[in-house]
Amino acid sequence: MRRVTILGSTGSIGRSTVAVLTEAPDFEFAVEALVGGDNVGLLIEQARALRPSVAVIASEKHLDALRTGLAGTGIQAQAGHSAVIDAAARPSDWVMSAITGAAGLKPTLAAVARGAKVALANKECLVCAGSLFMDAARTHGATLLPVDSEHNAIFQVLGRPQDVEKLILTASGGPFRTHSLESMRKASAAEALDHPNWAMGQKISIDSATMMNKGLELIEAAYLFGVPEERIEIVVHPQSIVHSLVSYRDGSVLAQLGAPDMRIPIAHALAWPDRIQTTAPRLDLAAIGNLSFEAPDLTRFPALEVARGAMKMGQGAPTALNAANEVAVRAFLDGQIAFLDIAALVTETLEALVAHGLIAAGAEPRTFEDVHTLDETARRVAVEHRQRFSS
Ligand code: NDP
Repeated sequence: MRRVTILGSTGSIGRSTVAVLTEAPDFEFAVEALVGGDNVGLLIEQARALRPSVAVIASEKHLDALRTGLAGTGIQAQAGHSAVIDAAARPSDWVMSAITGAAGLKPTLAAVARGAKVALANKECLVCAGSLFMDAARTHGATLLPVDSEHNAIFQVLGRPQDVEKLILTASGGPFRTHSLESMRKASAAEALDHPNWAMGQKISIDSATMMNKGLELIEAAYLFGVPEERIEIVVHPQSIVHSLVSYRDGSVLAQLGAPDMRIPIAHALAWPDRIQTTAPRLDLAAIGNLSFEAPDLTRFPALEVARGAMKMGQGAPTALNAANEVAVRAFLDGQIAFLDIAALVTETLEALVAHGLIAAGAEPRTFEDVHTLDETARRVAVEHRQRFSS
């Protein structure tokens, strides 16, 4: 019997996690906590079906609705940011970290601090607090199980570190892979959210359209697998069948393949080191016919190089990159800036922070409090610079 907690159960990854748990035959589990952000209706529905000990909604205005919805079930109803962190700290064997953005950091750390197995979908934890987060996992004996399909693929085929020449992350190229710069300039939010292969939450969908997502994944992979960024390559693979590859010093290249369905990496992280049954579609290679690969176009997708540059720079730049990107994506979705302004705003924010000595040698965050401070500063600077752009 596995005791599980789902942080972000009402989101795309959260819903897929619920599907994996409930569809797997012979997998015995009990739910300790379910955590949602704002969607109290779905949280109530999930809690009534899965019977957790506690259901938490981040948005405090929904507490009464949650209490009413769970009346008579014996499930505790709680709300607010500290209740989210407390839920992650409650004893459970396995925690799905699927709150989106830097908001996922503190709750995920609470699970790490009690040495849990943490299925890590939230890549922003590693982007904004990389070495500190990895150190915390080591110190507390937590097990990090990558859920991002690319990192899960690498985790599945990774051998001895001394034999690894490079990691190759695949990228679908997103909805604008074949678009001209001119059409990308005018791209609407609906077009940017319309991913060709994956159904995902809004933030990661926009990140996929700018390819910032691949840049964030590069940073995530560097910390997670201890491989420097110059040994992490990115290749565009529009079919999203090969999820990533590891190249070895003898010339062998190992890849993991599967249908583009997040239930597969979630099931892997849930059952690891075993495997469980899923209802995800099976690969039919003859029907797919061809798999293609191409180099990313860094002119149309500058975010990739901005992220790589931030990782190269270190000194807090990845923390600031993540914060500025969250502000820029929100501004684009709110119609305040144009699609191509996302990468430009992130770049301007990083340049301003460097100019003010806030990203500099010796300024690398040394504590989670430092991360928090830099994150807040970068958000403020990004908001200030946002005024210069207009959609
Ligand atoms: P969604 O936006 O679909 O879901 C995010 C979840 O987090 C929702 O349950 C949301 O609640 C909740 N949430 C948001 N803010 C808070 C908060 N402050 N406190 C508590 N809960 C909060 O995102 P995805 O599921 O797409 O992505 C989640 C994470 O997984 C991201 O970090 C993403 O990069 C990563 N990921 C996602 C993939 C995918 O296929 N979707 C693939 C690989 C990685 P509510 O909806 O109730 O407001």
